[in-house]
Amino acid sequence: MEKNRLLYEEAVKYIPGGVNSPVRAFGSIGSCPRFIARADGSRLWDEEGKEYVDFIGSWGPMILGHNHPEVREQVTEAVERGLSFGAATAAEVEMAKLVCDMVPSVEMVRMVNSGTEAVMSAIRVARGYTGRDKIIKFTGCYHGHSDGLLVKAGSGVMMAGVPDSLGVPAGCTGDTLSARYNDLESVREHFVRCGEEIAAVIVEPVAANMGVVLPREGFLEGLREICDQYGALLIFDEVITGFRLCPAGAQGFFGVYPDLTTFGKIIGGGMPVGAYGGKREIMELVAPLGGVYQAGTLSGNPVAMAAGLSQLSILRDFPESYQKLNDTADDFFEGIRQRIASAGLSYQVNHIGSLGCIFFTDQEVSDYESAKTSDTGKYADYCNYMLEHGIYLAPAQFEAMFLSMAHTELQLMETLRVMEAYFV
Ligand SMILES: *Cc1c(COP(=O)(O)O)cnc(C)c1O
Repeated sequence: MEKNRLLYEEAVKYIPGGVNSPVRAFGSIGSCPRFIARADGSRLWDEEGKEYVDFIGSWGPMILGHNHPEVREQVTEAVERGLSFGAATAAEVEMAKLVCDMVPSVEMVRMVNSGTEAVMSAIRVARGYTGRDKIIKFTGCYHGHSDGLLVKAGSGVMMAGVPDSLGVPAGCTGDTLSARYNDLESVREHFVRCGEEIAAVIVEPVAANMGVVLPREGFLEGLREICDQYGALLIFDEVITGFRLCPAGAQGFFGVYPDLTTFGKIIGGGMPVGAYGGKREIMELVAPLGGVYQAGTLSGNPVAMAAGLSQLSILRDFPESYQKLNDTADDFFEGIRQRIASAGLSYQVNHIGSLGCIFFTDQEVSDYESAKTSDTGKYADYCNYMLEHGIYLAPAQFEAMFLSMAHTELQLMETLRVMEAYFV
């Protein structure tokens, strides 16, 4: 009984906040983390034996569902051959070819161990290639926890980025300019002021770290145009969207192609993997070929490659499963919208394909400012209710819901039924 709480009490003695990543804390909903014992398909079981329908999917990676038999088999076979060699392997070659096949803008790719590393490295390459230092990021977009990207919401174009974390020297964020998501004018202003110093614009092509915020029509195209005009690189951070909306990621979905792309989450099939890639001419700058240094003892790890390769191969071989997933998700999120409306509420449901979220606000959410109008107290109450009823959601408002190909119609209907009971 109360095993989650007991584990949490132990955890906080030895681990800061009791968790190894802040998103796993349940503090913002005033609750105790569920300690997960195992997962299968779209279900999770916590240490108390309680079963949940999982709408986090390890924050994105588990698009095929947990414990997929083929992925498990490939990983088990890889484990038997050895955990790490620190040397080149055939699996890495296969992985690189597969990524380049699936994502046409990627002609060369380098494997790393996390999304954070992928973004940090891609930015270094963009700076190396352009010989410029400044980058533009959008407030509310998350690109991992490297120093230069932990920048406070910009409070004006003239301001250099201010660190958003203790321990980040001001010198590390001084070259990071903030712009407003879905606002091309806020990007243009930076370029007009110092366009010849800007190496790159980095963007989540669908923002999924301030809740889910869709790019307005023309926004991504506009970024492409501005970057071309000023000779800056466009970087799509597809750590969440890569292989999520279609085999070619958000860039394939919207038909707007960046110079560099970063991957994480799905690409590792549940193992710690990240990758960055893009045009050959740019990627040829990466060491040992070129002068941009980037390395990793465990990068391209054979067990991680086995997991990623088998998940990506399944996604490539059954592209029609995206259509089915996206259709199912359309119905599901529409179902949420209807239930909110029939309860006489006016909360926002943002979604695209299998990514979505509810904002507890009556304002349309198109950027960080409007996302912030959401009532997080209401989210906390809703989330705790859902958890009690066996629906596992992100324990914070500004995160996405992830559907997987393993969710069944029945589970989604049941989830809608629980939501309906909550909203009325
Ligand atoms: C999760 C995420 C990252 C960071 O990836 P980690 O593997 O957690 O380091 C970077 N960018 C985006 C868009 C993400 O969602």
